[in-house]
Amino acid sequence: MDEREQIIRLGKVLAAEERAACADSVIEGGLECFLERWRDTANGALAEPAVQEALALLAGYGALPPAQRADRIAAALRGLRAIFRAPAPPDASSQSETSTPVATTGAAEPLPPLHANGTTRNASRATRNTQKPAPPLALDAPLNALSGVGPEMVGAFKRLGLRTIEEVLYHFPHRYDDYSKQKTIAELSIGEVETVVAEVAEVKTFRMKNGRDAVEIQVSDATGLLKAVFFQGRWLAKQFPVGRKVVLSGKVGSYMGLRQMSSPSMEPYADDELIHTGRLVPVHPLTKGLHERNARSVIKQAVDRAAPLVEDFLPPEVRLRAGLLPLPEALAQMHFPQNYAMLEKARQRLGFDEFLLIQVGVLQRKQLWQGIRSHPLAFHEAVHDDFLSKLPFNLTGAQVRALKEIFADMERPVPMARLLQGDVGSGKTAVAAAALVQSIANGFQGALMAPTEILAEQHYKGLKALLKQVRVPRKQSSGVGGQEEQAGQAEAPVDAEALAQLDELKRLLGMVPEDDLDGEGVRVALLTGSLGAKERRRVLAGIAEGDVDLVIGTHALITEGVQYHSLGLVCIDEQHRFGVEQRQRLKDKGFNPHMLVMTATPIPRTLTLTIYGDLDTSILNERPPGRQPIKTRWISAAEREKAYKHLRREIKAGRQAFVICPLVEESEKIDLPSAIEMQEHLQHEVFPDLRVGLIHGQLLPREKDEIMVAFRNHEFDILVATAVVEVGIDVPNATTILIEGAERFGLSQLHQFRGRVGRGVHQSFCILVSDVDNEQTAQRLGAMEATDDGFRLAEVDLELRGSGDLFFGTRQSGTPDLKVARLTDVRLLDAARTEAQRILQSDPQLERPEHAKLKAKVEAFWAAAQAEAS
Ligand code: ADP
Ligand code: MG
Repeated sequence: MDEREQIIRLGKVLAAEERAACADSVIEGGLECFLERWRDTANGALAEPAVQEALALLAGYGALPPAQRADRIAAALRGLRAIFRAPAPPDASSQSETSTPVATTGAAEPLPPLHANGTTRNASRATRNTQKPAPPLALDAPLNALSGVGPEMVGAFKRLGLRTIEEVLYHFPHRYDDYSKQKTIAELSIGEVETVVAEVAEVKTFRMKNGRDAVEIQVSDATGLLKAVFFQGRWLAKQFPVGRKVVLSGKVGSYMGLRQMSSPSMEPYADDELIHTGRLVPVHPLTKGLHERNARSVIKQAVDRAAPLVEDFLPPEVRLRAGLLPLPEALAQMHFPQNYAMLEKARQRLGFDEFLLIQVGVLQRKQLWQGIRSHPLAFHEAVHDDFLSKLPFNLTGAQVRALKEIFADMERPVPMARLLQGDVGSGKTAVAAAALVQSIANGFQGALMAPTEILAEQHYKGLKALLKQVRVPRKQSSGVGGQEEQAGQAEAPVDAEALAQLDELKRLLGMVPEDDLDGEGVRVALLTGSLGAKERRRVLAGIAEGDVDLVIGTHALITEGVQYHSLGLVCIDEQHRFGVEQRQRLKDKGFNPHMLVMTATPIPRTLTLTIYGDLDTSILNERPPGRQPIKTRWISAAEREKAYKHLRREIKAGRQAFVICPLVEESEKIDLPSAIEMQEHLQHEVFPDLRVGLIHGQLLPREKDEIMVAFRNHEFDILVATAVVEVGIDVPNATTILIEGAERFGLSQLHQFRGRVGRGVHQSFCILVSDVDNEQTAQRLGAMEATDDGFRLAEVDLELRGSGDLFFGTRQSGTPDLKVARLTDVRLLDAARTEAQRILQSDPQLERPEHAKLKAKVEAFWAAAQAEAS
């Protein structure tokens, strides 16, 4: 069928529906079923704005009150008919009934005449509507605009952070009780949660032993009797007089042979609008002074009166492409779902919104970063080959692939924004080094930023040893200051003073004459707090003048007054905290370098796109060859003795070990050894002849660094640590890590811990101690034993524990929380990202009128996230 025929088919069905008084009876399964099928075959017809509009109007049709159905059908038909009218001459009096221009296909029939009386009929239907709806409510109205809400309840809602009607609309249920399947009394199964419609037969109040009133209500239907007992005031008796038809939902018990419900949820029976029973009943997060029924009634009122006023910020074509409910509909269904299918549709829509707002935000962030020019850095093959020849190994396939992507980015005049994700030990440093060398070969500087001084120092030692063998022919920097270039100090220092200064700097940097490679040796500086004031000044001057090629340090590299001569590339290692703000700071300083962020934290792709959605990603999914897998065992606390024997054996062979404890100090609530207790216990009772150290997060950074250095220098045999044990720290002689209370850590974190060993030539071990033996722990710790693939583990964690635990560190980076969307929903995220890209491609600043609502929403969403983060 071609497009026109498709539209005609749609029009005919709508017309039939209108003739049938909009009772949603012409299509088996409801009009929406038809629309769904139609959408699948409509193809090109979907491009027609009037069709999009019609589908938007009719979404959620089955749930609409009759008056609205009629209005929407009429509006949809008007739009569709206009499609056929359009090409007719302006004065055509024949109207659409007969003038449908079908000449091109010849096969189509005209749309049936259906609008003759459309408007009057609709109007009369609207007034026939018996329900008198409460007046609509402004979204920004305060909560006391709702009837029945007094100051006390306003206060209770405020404790939940809710002040306006709109906020209540986004205060979603945290679960739903399924009271939707009604039964007769005789059918009720004891022990089940059931719902029943019956008539009040008898009401008794009596006083309980504690002096409080209780109410006993007997209800009956044609099949039997049911007793309901309420342990609360007499008001209930008044509310449910004999003869009143009611709905009860609750767990069925039995008392003296009679079926009974204890404190069931109960409300007067109404044909349509059940709130607390007989449906999927929402249960909302509550607080002191806010009771379930009250909250639900108030929220129902808000939803009924205000949800229809919510403007849909999604452009209709986006909504249609993604097959989503209109926003008002989704909000209503999220709170009071008709059934599970509608609930799922509501979740889809609202989850899509969250993903979309995040994606638009991160992609705009990317635009912002990449909106200004950077220096294209050409690929110097000879220098790269020299670098490769000095590496003590061949790059893995994954490293080669990542470098190809990185070099391609660096050659572009937009600043690279790339994330290098690779499991511990996958060789990220070598990749960063290769990229930094290219920056230097182009006459620019490089910077490498580590999260701690000790890691900075580790990088410095490693990179200095490697790079001092690599020749980088010095080109004149095409860097920042056009004027400064004339000075040309990098090419050939002319005067003796400059020469002397350079020599002094080289000495300061620890370069011996051989390292100079006739002036082609890379000049690497370590910028840490341990530099003396005078040295520091010299090094800073060297950086400002471009005499230092590569600077390594902590985030002081951007926060403090470091002036670069021409910064070409910044590599950031293992810094979860390197977020938008830091990047902005780099930019504010006028630097516009390429940027490579490295992380060993394996996270599933959905989360990567959420937290790091503004970065392109390269993945090192391959380990360097010849690594021995770390042997991992899960043991019970009773088996600790055996584990200690193992530790002793390893230490006797000259190795070292970590022991990780979840807590610093002992806790009354948690029956687990703390790090402090553990250190004392191990030192005095288990290994009195060995040296047992202690490190935890309450120490000063300097103290922590000292202890780590001492451990690396083998001044301890065993280091007891909390989770602070530094990410990325390299102690190749450590071969065993024993983790107490292993069930308390996320899998990604356990995997990070495990990465502390297996860094040398010796076989390494990871021992997980846990007595918790529930299904989930068994699966998680079992997964640790079974695989050492960090990405696989992150996925297992996500499946088993949901998203919450994975959201470490996102607070700091100001990424919004997800209320509805699930991180396992890859498909929805992809759809949202695609739409976000499409929108921004055509309208990068969201300046078009059709994007005005979206723009405002994105801004409000991110402002809220930033506010929470700070
Ligand atoms: P991470 O990705 O955890 O930062 P590193 O860069 O510290 O990993 O590398 C871990 C170890 O693997 C280092 O000792 C490094 O020299 C070595 N390495 C890196 N790449 C390779 C390779 N392609 N082949 C062999 N060893 C490699
Ligand atoms: Mg590393």
